Amino acid sequence: MIEKTRVLVTGAGGFIGSHLVSFLKEKGYWVRGVDLKYPEFSESDADEFEILDLRRWDNCLQATRNVEEVYALAADMGGMGFISAHHAQILYNNSLINLHTLEAAKTNGVKRYLYTSSACIYPEYLQEDANVTPLKEEDAYPAQPQDAYGWEKLVSEILCHHYREDYGIETRTVRFHNIFGENGTWDGGREKAPAAMCRKIAAAKITGNHEIEIWGDGEQTRSFCYITDCVEGLFRLMRSDFHEPLNLGQDRMVTINQLADIVAEIAGITITKKHIDGPMGVRGRNSDNTKLREVLNWEPEISLEKGLQTTYQWIEEQVKQSLSEKDANAFNQTV
Ligand code: NAD
Repeated sequence: MIEKTRVLVTGAGGFIGSHLVSFLKEKGYWVRGVDLKYPEFSESDADEFEILDLRRWDNCLQATRNVEEVYALAADMGGMGFISAHHAQILYNNSLINLHTLEAAKTNGVKRYLYTSSACIYPEYLQEDANVTPLKEEDAYPAQPQDAYGWEKLVSEILCHHYREDYGIETRTVRFHNIFGENGTWDGGREKAPAAMCRKIAAAKITGNHEIEIWGDGEQTRSFCYITDCVEGLFRLMRSDFHEPLNLGQDRMVTINQLADIVAEIAGITITKKHIDGPMGVRGRNSDNTKLREVLNWEPEISLEKGLQTTYQWIEEQVKQSLSEKDANAFNQTV
């Protein structure tokens, strides 16, 4: 009998991690999931799921035992509201998680290690214009990420680089650009813009109050990548021989106002936008996918409209389940 390759997914209780576990199971891998919590919205498909705090070295040794590959997704993270308000906590927690997980993987003889970085590592000075030039991998330096979240990601990228050079562990590094989809956080303060927008518009539809709050003037730009493309790209990168950081995202840029209009159209309602003060992040951000296409011979395929269609339906269901109509106004707060 052929032995299945054994892999670890950290952050397997989170949004991308839970989808990745299901994807790897379908590909025939034996999967251990590790997280502080079980997935919130569905059962994990993992063969084994362990609740462990990966800030701790002993837990990292336990998590990385008897596996050949690690997908390192665990992080203390959230949308702009969370990232811009918890710098010290994020820097402390994520540094410990990544230092200990990679060292433990090396100690346990792990062969391949994929680290999930972020477009948040790109310098603020290249993202001051809404009509931004798409960001190439080499634009990362001279470094000036906007937040501690991005600085930590950058250091962990460098950590992976040196562990490969010094110890021979095959590290891969992906830089995500705004991943969205079903089974992700949609309320509570850690949700990201697409989920927050779907929640607000679902609440508007239910209550009949069609005024939607948007942080800032809504002219800030981003690109958004659907979750099935994300896990496909992750898998392709792990299997490739490319060991430098690689963007993974869509390269179609929209404003937050446009994002709101697309979701409203899907919901079948007309909305009024109310622009309020709030953290907006960088003014513009888009992914340059030239290297992604070259390296993976592939790029994300699902359109924003198609991805938002299923995401919106799922979030509308969540809002309906958790709200009586009387409470719905409470969800129409901030992105
Ligand atoms: P998520 O918050 O849904 O998942 C992260 C998981 O890590 C959570 O389930 C959390 O409980 C777990 N975790 C946090 N601290 C931990 C600890 N001490 N020990 C064990 N587990 C711990 O986030 P996600 O969107 O699935 O993101 C996955 C990875 O991708 C993260 O590293 C994130 O920084 C990165 N990323 C995501 C995006 C995006 O758009 N979603 C963009 C850029 C980068």
